Amino acid sequence: MSGADPVDQQRLAGAVLVVNAGSSSLKYQLVDPDTAEVFADGLAERIGESAPVITHTAFGVERVVTEPVADHLAAIAVVVRLMRESGLDLRAAGLSAVGHRVVHGGRSFHAPTVITEKVRSEIERIAPLAPLHNPPNLIGIDAVTELLPEVPQVAVFDTAFFHDLPDAAATYALDAQVAAEHGVRRYGFHGTSHQYVSRRAAEFLGRPDGQLRQIVLHLGNGASASAIDGGRAVDTSMGMTPLEGLVMGTRTGDIDPGIAFQLHRVGGMSVDQLDRLYNKGSGLYGLCGDNDFRTVLQRRSDGDAAADLAYRVYVHRLRHYIGAYLVELGGVDAITFTAGVGENAAPVRADALAGMEAFGIAIDPDRNAVRSKESRRISTDDSAVAVLVVPTNEELEIARQAAGVVRG
Ligand code: AMP
Repeated sequence: MSGADPVDQQRLAGAVLVVNAGSSSLKYQLVDPDTAEVFADGLAERIGESAPVITHTAFGVERVVTEPVADHLAAIAVVVRLMRESGLDLRAAGLSAVGHRVVHGGRSFHAPTVITEKVRSEIERIAPLAPLHNPPNLIGIDAVTELLPEVPQVAVFDTAFFHDLPDAAATYALDAQVAAEHGVRRYGFHGTSHQYVSRRAAEFLGRPDGQLRQIVLHLGNGASASAIDGGRAVDTSMGMTPLEGLVMGTRTGDIDPGIAFQLHRVGGMSVDQLDRLYNKGSGLYGLCGDNDFRTVLQRRSDGDAAADLAYRVYVHRLRHYIGAYLVELGGVDAITFTAGVGENAAPVRADALAGMEAFGIAIDPDRNAVRSKESRRISTDDSAVAVLVVPTNEELEIARQAAGVVRG
């Protein structure tokens, strides 16, 4: 195990601890928001279950710890201890903030917000909009309040980038009164990633994002598309919940709402069973039994019919959204792929944009085949539309937004 020397400890001043608390997991990263230097990061999994595992990396050295972790408070206590053992004393470090990823900001939060008692209550009030996500986010906030009470905490909302979607894009054609009463509208998610990637794409192209019409395709285990006009999000594929839109690892994406009635009335499924089926048992996994895209690609090239269908359904839905956003934007300057699948799966990028030369979109197969962790252009020099791959970095974006708010 290698620790930080005193210089390292000094470099921590102004760093941000980014916390992403899920229902049984906790992802964290200690990062300098100005230089993007990552001092430590890690993931605690199976919190509250029988065999929790914490993978902690500091200064490039990884430790895997298995010990009882009853809840998120215990998990954060272990993280604070592991950091200290790596020479990173979070309490003495002079951190500028702890930045929390909070999934749902409802109609209340449009920007990163310093967490006060009032803000915490408001996040709790809107938790019914995201019953799977906001409650663990709150538990993470409470745990940090207890363990690092002197450090300001900032909530960075996954919905914020989409807060001013045009009303025609944000509104469901549902009884207006019912919708208003229950907060039913399209909020969008993965906003931190779409915002970061669209700005990086503009930087890469050397043009102000205010001048660009962009489509961003965040293709990870969760997946979403966005249409961005001059820096403003004008549409996105996720809706009131992260279920809508693209085919995902285990989520359905778009599905006829009537299917739920059928599965309930005829199939006898409860709401909780449907929730599980739609969120955890569908998507690529539901179609072929695997949600890891690498396995789907491997099985497909081995001639597996279920994996092949899953792949084609995935690409079909992706093309559907690309087409919709091309029209909504009235043409596009850049299409950018990001996240695990978008950054790594060349066949998906090629198939998503195949045959679109008439729209000024042409991928260069050699550029597309290059494997790299850097932002890159994969379209031909003649392609009117720049097609890019830009690695996302939600943690850095959260850290920058959190530091920006506390620095004022
Ligand atoms: P994320 O949610 O962004 O971490 O993305 C996770 C998804 O990216 C999983 O489905 C992975 O299988 C997929 N992925 C990661 N690396 C590759 C790769 N080299 N080729 C294809 N898919 C990949």
